[in-house]
Amino acid sequence: MKRQVVVAGNWKMNLGPGAAAEYASAFEPPRTEASVKVVLFPPTLAFSALREALRERGRTEVELGVQNIYWERAGAYTGETSPVVAREVGAAWALVGHSERRHLFGEKNSDVARKTRAALESGLLPLVCVGETWEERQAGRLTEVLESQLTPVLEVIQEVGGSGPSGAPAFHLAYEPVWAIGTGQTATPDDATQAHGFLRGRLVSALPGAESQRISILYGGSVSPSNVRELLAAPEVDGVLVGGASLDPLSFAELCLAGSEAGGA
Ligand code: PEP
Repeated sequence: MKRQVVVAGNWKMNLGPGAAAEYASAFEPPRTEASVKVVLFPPTLAFSALREALRERGRTEVELGVQNIYWERAGAYTGETSPVVAREVGAAWALVGHSERRHLFGEKNSDVARKTRAALESGLLPLVCVGETWEERQAGRLTEVLESQLTPVLEVIQEVGGSGPSGAPAFHLAYEPVWAIGTGQTATPDDATQAHGFLRGRLVSALPGAESQRISILYGGSVSPSNVRELLAAPEVDGVLVGGASLDPLSFAELCLAGSEAGGA
Protein backbone atom coordinates (compact mmCIF):
# COMPACT_ATOMS: atom_id res chain seq x y z
CA MET A 1 0.00 0.00 0.00
CA LYS A 2 1.20 3.51 -0.84
CA ARG A 3 1.39 5.53 2.35
CA GLN A 4 1.46 9.26 2.89
CA VAL A 5 5.06 10.53 2.79
CA VAL A 6 5.60 13.01 5.62
CA VAL A 7 8.52 15.42 5.98
CA ALA A 8 8.43 17.02 9.42
CA GLY A 9 10.72 19.63 10.94
CA ASN A 10 11.20 19.91 14.70
CA TRP A 11 12.74 23.26 15.55
CA LYS A 12 13.11 22.31 19.23
CA MET A 13 13.87 25.44 21.35
CA ASN A 14 15.16 27.45 18.38
CA LEU A 15 13.79 30.38 16.31
CA GLY A 16 11.54 33.00 17.90
CA PRO A 17 8.63 34.84 16.24
CA GLY A 18 10.87 37.15 14.18
CA ALA A 19 13.06 34.33 12.91
CA ALA A 20 9.95 32.22 12.19
CA ALA A 21 8.52 34.97 9.98
CA GLU A 22 11.85 35.29 8.12
CA TYR A 23 11.91 31.52 7.70
CA ALA A 24 8.44 31.55 6.13
CA SER A 25 9.60 34.19 3.62
CA ALA A 26 12.53 32.06 2.51
CA PHE A 27 10.82 28.67 2.60
CA GLU A 28 9.84 27.36 -0.84
CA PRO A 29 8.81 23.71 -0.55
CA PRO A 30 7.52 22.07 -3.73
CA ARG A 31 3.80 22.66 -4.32
CA THR A 32 3.00 18.98 -4.49
CA GLU A 33 0.71 18.53 -1.55
CA ALA A 34 -0.60 15.16 -2.65
CA SER A 35 2.79 13.47 -2.76
CA VAL A 36 4.27 14.86 0.45
CA LYS A 37 2.86 16.28 3.64
CA VAL A 38 5.07 18.98 5.13
CA VAL A 39 4.79 19.67 8.85
CA LEU A 40 6.64 22.13 11.06
CA PHE A 41 6.88 21.98 14.84
CA PRO A 42 8.00 25.46 15.97
CA PRO A 43 8.48 26.43 19.62
CA THR A 44 5.15 27.36 21.21
CA LEU A 45 6.00 31.07 21.43
CA ALA A 46 6.77 31.25 17.69
CA PHE A 47 3.72 29.24 16.65
CA SER A 48 1.33 32.10 15.84
CA ALA A 49 3.98 34.16 14.05
CA LEU A 50 4.85 31.20 11.83
CA ARG A 51 1.19 30.41 11.16
CA GLU A 52 0.49 34.02 10.14
CA ALA A 53 3.62 34.33 7.98
CA LEU A 54 2.82 31.09 6.14
CA ARG A 55 -0.76 32.23 5.64
CA GLU A 56 0.36 35.60 4.22
CA ARG A 57 2.55 33.74 1.74
CA GLY A 58 -0.27 31.39 0.75
CA ARG A 59 1.58 28.36 2.11
CA THR A 60 -1.38 27.00 3.99
CA GLU A 61 -0.57 23.44 2.86
CA VAL A 62 2.29 23.44 5.38
CA GLU A 63 0.76 21.94 8.49
CA LEU A 64 1.78 22.97 11.98
CA GLY A 65 2.18 21.10 15.22
CA VAL A 66 3.25 21.61 18.81
CA GLN A 67 6.33 19.92 20.20
CA ASN A 68 4.67 18.78 23.41
CA ILE A 69 1.26 18.80 25.10
CA TYR A 70 -0.07 18.03 28.54
CA TRP A 71 -2.64 15.28 29.00
CA GLU A 72 -5.19 17.50 30.76
CA ARG A 73 -7.32 19.98 28.84
CA ALA A 74 -7.06 22.85 31.36
CA GLY A 75 -6.28 23.53 35.02
CA ALA A 76 -3.54 24.28 37.51
CA TYR A 77 -0.60 22.90 35.49
CA THR A 78 1.86 25.79 35.35
CA GLY A 79 4.00 25.86 32.26
CA GLU A 80 2.14 23.16 30.36
CA THR A 81 0.43 23.41 26.96
CA SER A 82 -3.22 22.42 26.64
CA PRO A 83 -3.97 20.17 23.67
CA VAL A 84 -7.33 21.89 23.23
CA VAL A 85 -5.72 25.33 23.03
CA ALA A 86 -3.06 23.98 20.67
CA ARG A 87 -5.88 22.92 18.37
CA GLU A 88 -7.62 26.27 18.78
CA VAL A 89 -4.55 28.23 17.62
CA GLY A 90 -4.21 26.07 14.53
CA ALA A 91 -2.06 23.10 15.42
CA ALA A 92 -3.00 19.98 13.48
CA TRP A 93 -0.26 17.77 14.94
CA ALA A 94 1.39 17.09 18.29
CA LEU A 95 4.81 15.58 18.73
CA VAL A 96 4.55 13.03 21.52
CA GLY A 97 7.36 11.22 23.34
CA HIS A 98 10.31 12.87 21.60
CA SER A 99 13.52 11.42 23.03
CA GLU A 100 14.44 14.78 24.58
CA ARG A 101 11.15 14.74 26.46
CA ARG A 102 11.81 11.17 27.58
CA HIS A 103 15.47 11.52 28.50
CA LEU A 104 15.81 15.17 29.65
CA PHE A 105 12.39 15.60 31.21
CA GLY A 106 11.72 12.11 32.48
CA GLU A 107 8.65 11.28 30.39
CA LYS A 108 7.63 7.68 30.92
CA ASN A 109 5.95 5.33 28.47
CA SER A 110 2.72 5.73 30.42
CA ASP A 111 2.96 9.55 30.09
CA VAL A 112 3.45 9.19 26.35
CA ALA A 113 0.31 7.05 26.17
CA ARG A 114 -1.69 9.64 28.15
CA LYS A 115 -0.49 12.42 25.85
CA THR A 116 -1.39 10.33 22.80
CA ARG A 117 -4.91 9.94 24.16
CA ALA A 118 -5.16 13.67 24.94
CA ALA A 119 -4.04 14.53 21.41
CA LEU A 120 -6.60 12.19 19.85
CA GLU A 121 -9.39 13.48 22.06
CA SER A 122 -8.51 17.09 21.13
CA GLY A 123 -8.41 16.49 17.39
CA LEU A 124 -4.61 16.63 17.09
CA LEU A 125 -2.74 14.05 15.03
CA PRO A 126 -0.05 12.57 17.28
CA LEU A 127 3.39 11.87 15.86
CA VAL A 128 4.64 9.41 18.44
CA CYS A 129 8.42 9.02 18.74
CA VAL A 130 10.16 5.83 19.80
CA GLY A 131 13.79 4.78 19.74
CA GLU A 132 16.58 3.10 21.65
CA THR A 133 19.75 4.48 23.26
CA TRP A 134 23.16 3.31 22.10
CA GLU A 135 23.59 1.20 25.27
CA GLU A 136 20.23 -0.50 24.69
CA ARG A 137 21.17 -1.20 21.08
CA GLN A 138 24.57 -2.60 22.07
CA ALA A 139 22.90 -4.83 24.63
CA GLY A 140 20.68 -6.32 21.89
CA ARG A 141 17.56 -4.72 23.37
CA LEU A 142 16.31 -2.84 20.29
CA THR A 143 13.03 -4.66 19.80
CA GLU A 144 12.37 -4.99 23.53
CA VAL A 145 12.69 -1.21 23.95
CA LEU A 146 10.55 -0.41 20.90
CA GLU A 147 7.95 -2.88 22.11
CA SER A 148 7.81 -1.32 25.58
CA GLN A 149 7.44 2.18 24.10
CA LEU A 150 4.84 1.25 21.50
CA THR A 151 2.58 -1.11 23.44
CA PRO A 152 0.96 1.50 25.78
CA VAL A 153 0.32 3.73 22.75
CA LEU A 154 -1.32 0.89 20.84
CA GLU A 155 -3.53 0.15 23.84
CA VAL A 156 -4.80 3.75 23.64
CA ILE A 157 -5.34 3.49 19.89
CA GLN A 158 -7.27 0.24 20.35
CA GLU A 159 -9.52 1.94 22.89
CA VAL A 160 -10.03 5.24 21.11
CA GLY A 161 -10.10 3.84 17.57
CA GLY A 162 -7.39 3.52 14.99
CA SER A 163 -8.87 5.73 12.30
CA GLY A 164 -9.42 9.45 12.20
CA PRO A 165 -12.05 11.23 10.10
CA SER A 166 -12.82 9.54 6.75
CA GLY A 167 -10.42 6.70 7.36
CA ALA A 168 -7.35 8.91 7.91
CA PRO A 169 -4.80 7.36 10.26
CA ALA A 170 -5.28 8.28 13.89
CA PHE A 171 -1.55 8.71 14.44
CA HIS A 172 1.86 8.40 12.85
CA LEU A 173 5.07 7.00 14.27
CA ALA A 174 8.67 8.20 14.18
CA TYR A 175 11.57 5.84 14.76
CA GLU A 176 14.33 8.00 16.21
CA PRO A 177 17.35 6.14 17.56
CA VAL A 178 18.58 8.33 20.43
CA TRP A 179 22.20 7.87 19.39
CA ALA A 180 21.46 9.40 15.98
CA ILE A 181 19.64 12.53 17.16
CA GLY A 182 21.74 15.65 16.75
CA THR A 183 24.95 13.62 16.55
CA GLY A 184 25.59 13.50 12.81
CA GLN A 185 25.60 9.69 13.18
CA THR A 186 22.71 8.54 10.98
CA ALA A 187 21.27 5.05 11.10
CA THR A 188 21.96 3.16 7.89
CA PRO A 189 19.01 2.42 5.61
CA ASP A 190 19.33 -1.21 6.77
CA ASP A 191 19.15 -0.18 10.44
CA ALA A 192 16.04 1.88 9.67
CA THR A 193 14.44 -0.94 7.68
CA GLN A 194 15.00 -3.39 10.53
CA ALA A 195 13.43 -1.13 13.15
CA HIS A 196 10.60 0.07 10.89
CA GLY A 197 9.85 -3.52 9.88
CA PHE A 198 9.52 -4.48 13.53
CA LEU A 199 7.23 -1.50 14.23
CA ARG A 200 5.09 -2.26 11.16
CA GLY A 201 4.73 -5.85 12.35
CA ARG A 202 3.48 -4.65 15.74
CA LEU A 203 1.01 -2.27 14.09
CA VAL A 204 -0.28 -5.07 11.87
CA SER A 205 -0.76 -7.46 14.76
CA ALA A 206 -2.47 -4.88 17.00
CA LEU A 207 -4.75 -3.00 14.59
CA PRO A 208 -7.17 -3.94 11.82
CA GLY A 209 -5.40 -4.46 8.49
CA ALA A 210 -6.23 -1.29 6.55
CA GLU A 211 -5.75 0.93 9.58
CA SER A 212 -2.35 -0.51 10.40
CA GLN A 213 -1.18 0.03 6.83
CA ARG A 214 -2.19 3.67 6.68
CA ILE A 215 0.11 4.73 9.53
CA SER A 216 3.33 6.26 8.23
CA ILE A 217 6.59 5.46 10.03
CA LEU A 218 9.09 8.30 9.79
CA TYR A 219 12.82 7.99 10.39
CA GLY A 220 14.56 10.66 12.49
CA GLY A 221 18.18 11.16 13.45
CA SER A 222 20.68 13.43 11.66
CA VAL A 223 18.73 13.48 8.41
CA SER A 224 20.24 15.93 5.92
CA PRO A 225 19.96 16.74 2.21
CA SER A 226 22.91 14.39 1.61
CA ASN A 227 21.38 11.26 3.17
CA VAL A 228 17.62 11.81 2.87
CA ARG A 229 17.11 10.08 -0.47
CA GLU A 230 18.75 6.81 0.52
CA LEU A 231 16.76 6.79 3.75
CA LEU A 232 13.47 7.47 1.96
CA ALA A 233 14.28 4.70 -0.52
CA ALA A 234 14.55 2.14 2.29
CA PRO A 235 11.63 -0.28 2.65
CA GLU A 236 9.12 0.81 5.29
CA VAL A 237 10.55 4.36 5.61
CA ASP A 238 7.57 6.61 4.92
CA GLY A 239 9.06 9.98 5.73
CA VAL A 240 11.52 11.81 7.92
CA LEU A 241 11.46 13.80 11.15
CA VAL A 242 14.23 16.36 11.06
CA GLY A 243 15.77 18.51 13.78
CA GLY A 244 18.93 20.45 12.88
CA ALA A 245 18.46 20.48 9.10
CA SER A 246 14.93 21.88 9.44
CA LEU A 247 16.27 25.14 10.91
CA ASP A 248 17.51 26.29 7.53
CA PRO A 249 14.58 26.92 5.15
CA LEU A 250 16.68 26.06 2.11
CA SER A 251 17.85 22.70 3.39
CA PHE A 252 14.40 21.87 4.73
CA ALA A 253 12.89 22.72 1.31
CA GLU A 254 15.42 20.31 -0.21
CA LEU A 255 14.24 17.59 2.18
CA CYS A 256 10.64 18.33 1.20
CA LEU A 257 11.59 17.97 -2.46
CA ALA A 258 13.14 14.58 -1.72
CA GLY A 259 9.92 13.65 0.10
CA SER A 260 7.78 14.66 -2.86
CA GLU A 261 9.95 12.58 -5.20
CA ALA A 262 9.58 9.60 -2.87
CA GLY A 263 5.82 10.23 -2.81
CA GLY A 264 5.68 10.02 -6.58
CA ALA A 265 5.62 13.67 -7.70
C1 PEP B 1 14.81 15.39 16.15
O1 PEP B 1 14.91 16.35 16.89
O2 PEP B 1 13.76 14.76 16.14
C2 PEP B 1 15.95 15.02 15.30
C3 PEP B 1 15.84 13.94 14.58
O3 PEP B 1 17.05 15.85 15.33
P1 PEP B 1 18.28 15.84 14.27
O4 PEP B 1 17.70 15.79 12.90
O5 PEP B 1 19.01 17.12 14.55
O6 PEP B 1 19.12 14.63 14.57
